[in-house]
Amino acid sequence: MRILANDGIDNLGKEMLEKAGFQVDTVHIPQEELISRLPEYDVVTVRSATKIRKDLIDACPNLKIIARGGVGMDNIDVEYARGKGIAVINTPSASSISVAELVFGHFFSGVRFLYDAQRKMATEGESNFAGLKKAYAKGSELRGKTLGVIGFGRIGRETAKIGLSLGMRVVVCDTHPIDTKVTLSFFEGQTLDFEVTQIGFDELLGSADFISLHVPFLGKALIGNEEFAKMKDGAGIVNASRGGVIDEDALLEHLNNGKIAFAGLDVFDNEPTPKTSLLRHPRVSLSPHIGAATNEAQKRVGEELATLIIQELAV
Ligand code: NAD
Repeated sequence: MRILANDGIDNLGKEMLEKAGFQVDTVHIPQEELISRLPEYDVVTVRSATKIRKDLIDACPNLKIIARGGVGMDNIDVEYARGKGIAVINTPSASSISVAELVFGHFFSGVRFLYDAQRKMATEGESNFAGLKKAYAKGSELRGKTLGVIGFGRIGRETAKIGLSLGMRVVVCDTHPIDTKVTLSFFEGQTLDFEVTQIGFDELLGSADFISLHVPFLGKALIGNEEFAKMKDGAGIVNASRGGVIDEDALLEHLNNGKIAFAGLDVFDNEPTPKTSLLRHPRVSLSPHIGAATNEAQKRVGEELATLIIQELAV
């Protein structure tokens, strides 16, 4: 059995697969060459970069598994593949903590102007230290503020836990029934149970000081002009879900009119070429879709993928 790990796989996962007798190739075959080279393989593992569309699936009659390291499967024609008897698997929980931690990187960056300070210190730090000190003098704390989590699934839950640990009031909303009990785990194995407050979408928009989005992209923006208008003046918002979840033009408008104090963005409408007006905005904290990009998450992804592939082929 030959496995192509086209977007890479952590060493631990690779070793597990090799130990189970598979040949694992970690070369990256460019998208346009896959149609001629993927038919040699029984399994392909991808992250978000490689696209597995109908034409490629048709060209690979021997393909048994398409394995996505991560959550979103928007780069794979999942139902079509399954219709052809190919198993499509993913590792939805492996990166939740990493994404949630990045969300707070953006919140801290936003409330203390770190994104802008970093940029300006590089050019003005020597000539205008006192001026910059003054410019960033009015930061705020997160403690005691209300965090609104929209989408209380795997990542929303981890985000809520960090908010609670920081002393924030956490309100959540979801379109599906949810368990509002969360268990915080501490370093030496101690745990603490908490209850988050579930409220309606509009109520959350109107009461949260900080909003974090953790929903799938369902074809249209969840947060547009109307929703921004319902938010508290000076709210901060972080999007580490999918680009289209926020209407970027509406975001820019509400950043510019002062309604929104800052935004933290890990994902963009038009990846990999996001809008320059967002990239250059002084009140937007930015990262290039790296929510899951930690050693720990990638190790878990590799381990989970290997376990799932081994299980699937053993059936
Ligand atoms: P999940 O499926 O566990 O949770 C999503 C939750 O959103 C569900 O509980 C669902 O009921 C709820 N939901 C759906 N539509 C809603 C709406 N309109 N209003 C309120 N709630 C709604 O998903 P997850 O694993 O937590 O992932 C969340 C998002 O994060 C996805 O978009 C995923 O693609 C993205 N993600 C981003 C990165 C990154 O690198 N930034 C990494 C992993 C996942």
